[in-house]
Amino acid sequence: MIYLDYFATTPCAPEVVDAMLPWFTQDFANPHSTHGPGQKAAHAVEVAREHVAALIGAEAREIVFTSGATEANNIAIKGAARHVQRMGGERRRVITSAVEHKCVLESVKSLESEGFEPVILPVDRHGRVDSASLEKALSVPTALVSIMAANNETGVLQDIPTLSALARQAGAVFHTDLAQMAGKLPVSLEHVDLASVSAHKMYGPKGVGALYVRRRPRARIVPLFSGGGQERGVRSGTLPTPLVVGFGEAARIARGALTVEPERLAQLRDVLWQKLRDGLPGSVLNGAKVPRLPGGLNFCLPKGVSALDVMAHLPDIAMSTGSACSAAELAPSYVLTAMGLPEAEASRCLRLSVGRFTSNAEIDRAAALLVDVARVS
Ligand SMILES: *Cc1c(COP(=O)(O)O)cnc(C)c1O
Repeated sequence: MIYLDYFATTPCAPEVVDAMLPWFTQDFANPHSTHGPGQKAAHAVEVAREHVAALIGAEAREIVFTSGATEANNIAIKGAARHVQRMGGERRRVITSAVEHKCVLESVKSLESEGFEPVILPVDRHGRVDSASLEKALSVPTALVSIMAANNETGVLQDIPTLSALARQAGAVFHTDLAQMAGKLPVSLEHVDLASVSAHKMYGPKGVGALYVRRRPRARIVPLFSGGGQERGVRSGTLPTPLVVGFGEAARIARGALTVEPERLAQLRDVLWQKLRDGLPGSVLNGAKVPRLPGGLNFCLPKGVSALDVMAHLPDIAMSTGSACSAAELAPSYVLTAMGLPEAEASRCLRLSVGRFTSNAEIDRAAALLVDVARVS
């Protein structure tokens, strides 16, 4: 099997698994208990919190652990909007972009039934949100803006420093989904009030993530869960010590690799693209002209070649058409159609993503197989 779907999820790093194991068995105490074993678990949680904070340039006390980026996005968007409403403000507009992850789009849309006004900004043909269109949308009093740092299908990066500054100037809370960005490239939290991360996109376990909640100036949110008030009241529930420890270890390793890994992955990705482009003339790279994540490749196969057919012929290469969550849908990717691709073109697109454990030999073999299969189909 050749795994080329690192944007969907990553395997747990062996060091991460080793770090987690004792917290399932001998050190199983509740990290919120005041006895010795509980305090030992609590300490491990705080060490992990520091690693996650360091990865994104935050303070440890600005990190709230959640079950993943889906939950962090829900808490950030619904929680921040509801806080604005609770304070009796006039701001009812909630702005996001057409290429966000479903959990962001659906969270924003769900606020309509609570009296908010969702606004979904278009993207240009490169997949970028235009700062002028955000500025225009912000002319109506806005509670919250949520724009992702890096897209999970195309890897296209948004200009978060510019967009967040516009939101801040307009008095709106700014949230960014960092699920794909964190651990892959350095991030800046300048003007960012809330940010979401996920462990399983950076070689940590599935089922844990975090929400960054800025302290100065303080970002305020109404929690989604009622409960014991853990995580500063933002997210009640007993913390899963093993998962949190694994997330911390994954963040520590990712931070250490930031100086070398992006370049290595970009090289692998570029070699893969060169081979595909040479072997399959007429292939078109999506987002080619704008900054993208180093490990990802989203491209349209030549006319007459269906992406689903190619995938069906190559079950031992893990790749995808759209995002992992909507992979079961046969409809072409809404991210690509938002970039202006006609449906027929979008249905010829494949997403390939490389990562820490991808070798040169796998790239060569995958490219050869893809070219062979796509040529005859
Ligand atoms: C994976 C992903 C999510 C969801 O994260 P989970 O931790 O799986 O809930 C959200 N946004 C983006 C951009 C993602 O890539």
